[in-house]
Amino acid sequence: MSSRLGHISPKTKILFAAILLILTPSAILSYLGLQSIDQKADNLRANYRASIRLMRDKLEGEIVRLEENVHNSLINSPLQARDVQTLKAWLLKLESENPVVKHPFLLTAERGMLSTMLSIGWKQSQHAAVARLGKTDSFQQAEDAEFIRKDIAGAISLYRSALEEIAAPSDRAFILSRLGRCYFKLERYEEGLRAYSDILALPSADIRIGRAPASVVALLQLVDGYEALGNLQKRWETLIKLYDQLVNAPWDLEDGSYLYYLKVIGNAVSEEPSPLVASVEVLKEKENTIFEQAARLHHLQHELVPYILSDLEHSSSLELQLRHASLQSGETKIQFGYFKLPLSFQREGFVALGYEIENNSMRQSIVPEVLQSVDLGPQLAVGIISERDSILFIQETLTASRYLVAEDFGGGLAGWKVALFDRAGKSLDERIAGEKRLYVFLLVGIILVMGLGILVTVRAAVHEMEVARIKADFVANVSHELKTPLALIRMFGETLETGIVSSEEKRKEFYGIIRKESERLTHLINNVLDFSQMDAGSKLYNFEEADVVEVVRSTLEAYKFHIRDLGFQVESRISSEPIITRMDKDAISQALLNLLSNATNYAADRKYICLEVRKNARTARISVTDHGVGIPKKELNKIFDKFYRASTAKTKETRGAGLGLSLVKHIVEAHKGRLEVESVVGQGSTFTIRIPLEPSEGS
Ligand code: ADP
Repeated sequence: MSSRLGHISPKTKILFAAILLILTPSAILSYLGLQSIDQKADNLRANYRASIRLMRDKLEGEIVRLEENVHNSLINSPLQARDVQTLKAWLLKLESENPVVKHPFLLTAERGMLSTMLSIGWKQSQHAAVARLGKTDSFQQAEDAEFIRKDIAGAISLYRSALEEIAAPSDRAFILSRLGRCYFKLERYEEGLRAYSDILALPSADIRIGRAPASVVALLQLVDGYEALGNLQKRWETLIKLYDQLVNAPWDLEDGSYLYYLKVIGNAVSEEPSPLVASVEVLKEKENTIFEQAARLHHLQHELVPYILSDLEHSSSLELQLRHASLQSGETKIQFGYFKLPLSFQREGFVALGYEIENNSMRQSIVPEVLQSVDLGPQLAVGIISERDSILFIQETLTASRYLVAEDFGGGLAGWKVALFDRAGKSLDERIAGEKRLYVFLLVGIILVMGLGILVTVRAAVHEMEVARIKADFVANVSHELKTPLALIRMFGETLETGIVSSEEKRKEFYGIIRKESERLTHLINNVLDFSQMDAGSKLYNFEEADVVEVVRSTLEAYKFHIRDLGFQVESRISSEPIITRMDKDAISQALLNLLSNATNYAADRKYICLEVRKNARTARISVTDHGVGIPKKELNKIFDKFYRASTAKTKETRGAGLGLSLVKHIVEAHKGRLEVESVVGQGSTFTIRIPLEPSEGS
């Protein structure tokens, strides 16, 4: 394992360590963060649910309060009368006074229903009083004459004498109708009409002949009578009167006779050639309503009433307790409220009061009133939706109809839901997704920044390692550089000291070697000292006005012999004019020495050096050209770094510390100048120093 790890570079190891130490915990934190966002979604949902439930309860409470008003009002006002008209009026009042109540109805134990307009199965008190008539003699005889002996004229006089004996309006109505019929049989229409008209003049309102009200029967006959007489105007007037009576005073629907009469007369009126006047239009409309209400009542009697009755029967403790039931009617579900009636009603056989819950007033006033006061902040709105999710009410107009959460209503509002909406139309998941995106975005950002940080750190660490390695090389190089000349000086010095060198020429050669090596030593030590000063930032320059040409010449002069000794051909193209600028003469001289020394060190077969000094408009230019090994292109910008040595073979066999060019660069930059290099591998290099001239000379 450790041998395997040994192959991994230090850079990779640092990278791994950084990933482990920084990225792993942050990955765990990110995971936990994402989880907490999911958790937040759940919490949010729960919160929304809780607040929506509160609102639902508030609304339900309000509806219950309104419904309770209904039976409170019943308890406080006991049943006053029991005739149908008064009861109908009473139901109408109940409907108009209570916003939740629509189409109220009273219920008897025998499934009889009384609504504001119609009744069904409602037992009437004054039904036919006909039975008593059979006992009167003259009436009996009249019937015998009419039906058995077919003596119509005789029957007429017998009915007439019966009329004189009998005073009860219902009996009189019955006899008058027989009389009228006999006259009609004899085609004595005028008298017949009079008999029927007498029925209409009778005092009580609720007189019946058979099942129909006496007035309806009489009017029907009058219509026929006028027709027989050809009095069409009268006939029409009577027909309308009859229609009016049917429409405005309906009787019980139980046996279907009422609806039959209504249909027949309604059709008769419609078929009339004379145009319908406005008042007839009103009657027509009412007729339609009656048919609708009748259908509704039948439906309720079959579908709802049995349920209510059995419910009330099975739970005795239900007195005055509100109950609810629903009934599917076509597409919609209708909610009903009902409750057992107080004793004053029960004594009369009325067991319960039922009503439809009035959705419209709920939607238009009650719900808005309750919900308007609810403030859920700028992002949320509350609304009511139907079974099919269509919006019935909403706090403000929204674009989207999707809701965040919804809760079903119970009781009078069953089938509806109260729902929470996002004002921007977002679903809960979308709201959370937005937050998640932001989180992931931030996370990626943080990871990128961290990655960048790691990269920079790793680079810095690697660089440090490189520098440490280079420094170690440097120490080795410098010690080697110092040792070699010292060893040579000592060796030749000792040889001379022994005096064994007899030849003057040889001695001169030895002295020369000692001088050259000591010069090299001085050069090296100068470089190291300067470098340490520059590296520490404590190098001081001694600027003064001087002639560049002069400095270059004297430097070349001092070094020329050495170069020539090495077998180099030196070409100098030095300006004949002086080039004066502010500079540190020693430093410039040292820079030039370094360039010349490199030119000799990295020479190839052609030992050639060209030194050129020129003056441009703004700069003094010193360039050293050689025909040496050259420098690979990719290393051109690195050779000025401290300790850097190029990768050429020649460099490897040449002694050096990699300091020379970094010193030259430092010196040139201290003069606000530039150091440039052009080089082609195998052909040679040109190093150029540019020093700006004095400002007075045009910079
Ligand atoms: P040193 O000469 O002590 O190695 P320098 O800083 O003077 O250090 O030079 C840096 C490197 O640049 C050298 O090691 C050498 O590879 C390359 N170099 C410098 N001058 C020349 C030149 N004239 N021709 C070819 N290579 C050169």
